[in-house]
Amino acid sequence: MAKRNKNDLKIAQEDLKKIYGRDWEFFQKKILNNCYCGNCKGPYNATITDYEIFLKKLNDILLSGKCKTCGGPVGRYLETSEVFVYAEAIEKVRSKYEAN
Ligand SMILES: [Zn+2]
Repeated sequence: MAKRNKNDLKIAQEDLKKIYGRDWEFFQKKILNNCYCGNCKGPYNATITDYEIFLKKLNDILLSGKCKTCGGPVGRYLETSEVFVYAEAIEKVRSKYEAN
């Protein structure tokens, strides 16, 4: 699992929603419910809950939360930097935080 580091920018759920745009529904249905939990040890079918969202330096996103089933730690790494259509929204979110 990718780890957090000090350069990660914690962002809000509304920011993530802006980044995903039309893919928001896909994110909620397919990503949140397809995480890997080391305790439950199934395939990638754990649901992440109570998660925090971090924007990595290279524009990937890390979700850090808990498994809905067992409460164990669950992380999900999203390679948003590889998706061209997300780039503009990511830069807007980043500049909003870095302006403060
Ligand atoms: Zn679990």
